[in-house]
Amino acid sequence: AKAAGRSRFRYFEQGMHAQAQKRRRDQFDLRRALENQEFELYYQKQVTLPARRLIGFEALLRWRDPYRGLILPDQFISLAEEMGLIIPLGEWVLHQACAQAAAWPTPWRVAVNLSPVQFGGGRLYEAVRSALALSGLDPARLELEITESVLLRETEETMASLHRLRELGVAIALDDFGVGYSSLGYLQRFPFDRVKIDRSFVASLGYSRESNAIVRSVVTLGTALDMSITAEGVENEAQCALLAEIGCHEAQGFLFGKPEPADTVSLAPSC
Ligand code: C2E
Ligand code: CA
Ligand code: CA
Ligand code: CA
Repeated sequence: AKAAGRSRFRYFEQGMHAQAQKRRRDQFDLRRALENQEFELYYQKQVTLPARRLIGFEALLRWRDPYRGLILPDQFISLAEEMGLIIPLGEWVLHQACAQAAAWPTPWRVAVNLSPVQFGGGRLYEAVRSALALSGLDPARLELEITESVLLRETEETMASLHRLRELGVAIALDDFGVGYSSLGYLQRFPFDRVKIDRSFVASLGYSRESNAIVRSVVTLGTALDMSITAEGVENEAQCALLAEIGCHEAQGFLFGKPEPADTVSLAPSC
């Protein structure tokens, strides 16, 4: 029995070793990917309700690995955050999104996702400022999407940093609203320009009275606080009709378009 225990332990140790090795390999791959410029931005349409006028795009990060093909952010963002690599990577995203948006044929808005880690680096303000300056993009066309995890470690610093960014003339959106720790109270603590309702609520619209009630109250409160409300993950006409009926201002989701490579954006019809 003792021998069996020992060998089990050895297997366990080997497992740990393999895991640590894989992690080091993943970290190496990710660093190399940034050096080799293997990242790309895809863009997903954002439209007004009920008219469905195209008003902007959200930039979504993709990693085009020469061997593995296109890799989605869920597969690498958290590792990039743990490594601190999200800071240079996030700066690349800001520069790339501003430069590409500045070249679009129509002054659509561009929304960029920020990691909470970017708020700790002390370089965010400068990165946004320089991305705007270098691209010449009108700051009014840039929107920064943050999640409530940024507000969770709600320090004076975070608030000051959000206000400073706002002073550059960019808009601030609260992403994934309704999941995690978010509460309606957040809407009072910072004057967001936009609230994006998480797609889990949109998915159950029409089936769940709770979701209906939550979406309705976010739209009502947000509107009263002068914020614009976007519904995420809109996949069908029924959801779209309900959202329009509730008075939701904008929508995003597969119904209007999947995230698409940058070069197809310029070809989008302007209405
Ligand atoms: P997110 O910010 O909530 O972005 C929306 C995600 O929902 C995207 O996944 C998009 O492809 C997906 N989506 C859009 N419409 C629909 C729909 O109708 N149905 C369904 N089922 N899904 C839809 P994606 O591109 O895989 O991105 C996942 C997450 O990765 C993003 O969630 C965001 O949190 C993060 N992310 C993406 N790009 C960046 C970035 O540049 N920086 C940082 N820090 N995070 C990013
Ligand atoms: Ca987002
Ligand atoms: Ca979201
Ligand atoms: Ca999300």
